[in-house]
Amino acid sequence: MEVEEALRQRIEGMEQRISNLERLVRVSLMLNSTLSLEPLLETIIQVITELTDTEDCSILLFDEKTGELRFRAARRMRREELEHISVPLDNSIAGWIFRENKPLLIRDAQRDDRFYQAVDEKLNFRTRSIIGVPLQARGQVIGVLEAINKRGGKELSWEDVNIMTTLAAQAAIAIENARLMEELQKAYDKLHELDRLKSDFISIAAHELRTPLSLILGYASFLRTSATGQASEQLDIVLQSAMRLNSLIGDMVNLRHIQTGEVQLELETFSLNDLVRSCIQEFLSLASAKQQTMGVNLPSPPLMIEADRQKLHLVLGNLLSNAVKFTPAGGRIEVLVCEHDEKAWVCVRDTGIGIPRKEWERVFDRFYQVEPSLSRRYEGMGLGLSIAKGMVELHGGRIWVESEVGKGSNFIFHLPLSQTPHSGEEP
Ligand code: ADP
Repeated sequence: MEVEEALRQRIEGMEQRISNLERLVRVSLMLNSTLSLEPLLETIIQVITELTDTEDCSILLFDEKTGELRFRAARRMRREELEHISVPLDNSIAGWIFRENKPLLIRDAQRDDRFYQAVDEKLNFRTRSIIGVPLQARGQVIGVLEAINKRGGKELSWEDVNIMTTLAAQAAIAIENARLMEELQKAYDKLHELDRLKSDFISIAAHELRTPLSLILGYASFLRTSATGQASEQLDIVLQSAMRLNSLIGDMVNLRHIQTGEVQLELETFSLNDLVRSCIQEFLSLASAKQQTMGVNLPSPPLMIEADRQKLHLVLGNLLSNAVKFTPAGGRIEVLVCEHDEKAWVCVRDTGIGIPRKEWERVFDRFYQVEPSLSRRYEGMGLGLSIAKGMVELHGGRIWVESEVGKGSNFIFHLPLSQTPHSGEEP
């Protein structure tokens, strides 16, 4: 009979272990798929209390700011209580486990010198026995996992320690991942907020600058008509600077419109050849002042396109202005237009300073400039290309750059010939 009873007990024990192991496998799968810290911690303490059949379980994480262990989850504490309760690294069981990076099983906590009474006193709770295991992620101890008071008058065992150690290994990595994810989310939110502030600032600044500037432009143009000699030269400079300011403000407004989706295409059918020619015309004097030559290669018959003429004018203007700006004296700028694959292709090519490979995509980002802003030799706000990209994409096209440092850049964009793709096939 005794043998039978012993056998029955062994079988029961093994069944319990198997069920615990099954539970552990299920839990570890779940831990790996949870990236939200609070629910993750709740799950861990719930599972540990169940598997060890204890009254409570706590998770303490190391707080780098205070150099203490801080409760992050425990059933016997209310959520708002948690963050105010910390445990010192010296003279506490959790502190010992953390420092030594070893598990600990204490059957009579009240008699242990390391036991830190203050937590029990605060919570009006009595810790009798305790197991603690270190939480270790990526080779570093990040906290301690504790289970307290076995239920039903039983004693905590090394089997419980094993269960906790197994789970702690998985839990620590999951906690660390969730923490990283939270930090990432916070950084992302902050970035989003900064972006919104910047966008609001642009909108307010542009609005406030426009009124006084239009007054300056108006009066300066008026005075220019009657001025002679030195005064007229000086007024020309005032007008040029005011116009430059005006175009910078225009860039700011355009960018904001693209960002908020407020821009709409005003479509018309026109000759792309004509548009390119007139844009080049606008830059000829600027280019020749820098001893640059300009060339153009246009298709014949002229390429007709259905698009927003003003917006394409802006795209070409930004590309040409960059080409002139970033090409040294003696350089050459060329614009090529052709039709291919039912698209209009435009290349603006220069023999300028070029753009390193790793910057090819970033130059289209808002405010991005290859040269750091404080040591820049070229003026500008880093908006032209992002506006050009926005305008091209609004037409359903694509823009990119190919370039070699010291040799030159080739900005290429293509647009559908028509904004209503099937209209050409209709009778
Ligand atoms: P901005 O010209 O006002 O700085 P853009 O958005 O037009 O702003 O251009 C972003 C950056 O891309 C420029 O500051 C420059 O570093 C680089 N870039 C643009 N066009 C050229 C070019 N043709 N050659 C060399 N670098 C260029």
